[in-house]
Amino acid sequence: MKKTFELATYEVVAPHVAKIMQNRPQARNAQNNRLTYDLNACFDLAAQDEDIKVILLGGEGPHFSSGHDLRSFGKFEDPLVGTWGLVKEGGVHSHYSFEQEVFLGMCRRWRDLPKPTIAMVQGKCIAGGLMLAWVCDLIIASDDASFVDPVVAMGVCGVEYFNHPYELGIRKAKELLFTGDVWDAQEAHRLGMVNQVVPRAELETYTLAMANRIAKMPSFALKMSKQAVNTAQNNMGQRETMDTSLALHHMCHAHNREMEARAVRKEGVPEKFREPVKAAE
Ligand code: ZN
Repeated sequence: MKKTFELATYEVVAPHVAKIMQNRPQARNAQNNRLTYDLNACFDLAAQDEDIKVILLGGEGPHFSSGHDLRSFGKFEDPLVGTWGLVKEGGVHSHYSFEQEVFLGMCRRWRDLPKPTIAMVQGKCIAGGLMLAWVCDLIIASDDASFVDPVVAMGVCGVEYFNHPYELGIRKAKELLFTGDVWDAQEAHRLGMVNQVVPRAELETYTLAMANRIAKMPSFALKMSKQAVNTAQNNMGQRETMDTSLALHHMCHAHNREMEARAVRKEGVPEKFREPVKAAE
């Protein structure tokens, strides 16, 4: 069975294994609202099909994900967005509600999906792309994969699904954020963020073989195992950390907007944002 959405595909690739692919390779799988909600529809299909026991998540093209599509920022009135995140007032209220639903909320939902999920990561995995990989239970990376969260340089304190300390440990989480360095698959593996590193050409076959082995286990025991380990992470304060981090993240967004507004008041609208002046007819 295969179902094609606008920017994602869902396919049953083995008796109990579904593969979900981000399908926006021309934009390096940049994640806009459409892709987010298409992925959610795919995850729902996998969750609702009792025959499916393991879910793979990958990205078409040379790169797993270039992160959030910055051009779709500010489109908080997108009808795709559900009632929690659709706030028309504007300001911090709209922006925060949007990110709470579309970024943090969706990631939490996928992280808690009651079946094992495995990310297959090749090429670049940037910022919002980390969130997609991190929500999966296992991460298999190809040897050309790299990971980076460069958003401190943009004036915010890390991506919205703030799992850095749980993925990397406290000191390396700080290093990733403070430096914005790109880490290769081997480094991510050494730190325990990635389960296995395999040659690029073997990424899918290796991951599928592992999924097939996992699919031989009883569904309920898999579900309970996932829940038990996720509960351990919950007990390390993951949820509270993320709620606080999202608030800090939005303090950064608000600060940046205020500083931009100040600069505009002082220096005028930068050339690149000015409306082109129409020539007289
Ligand atoms: Zn944000």
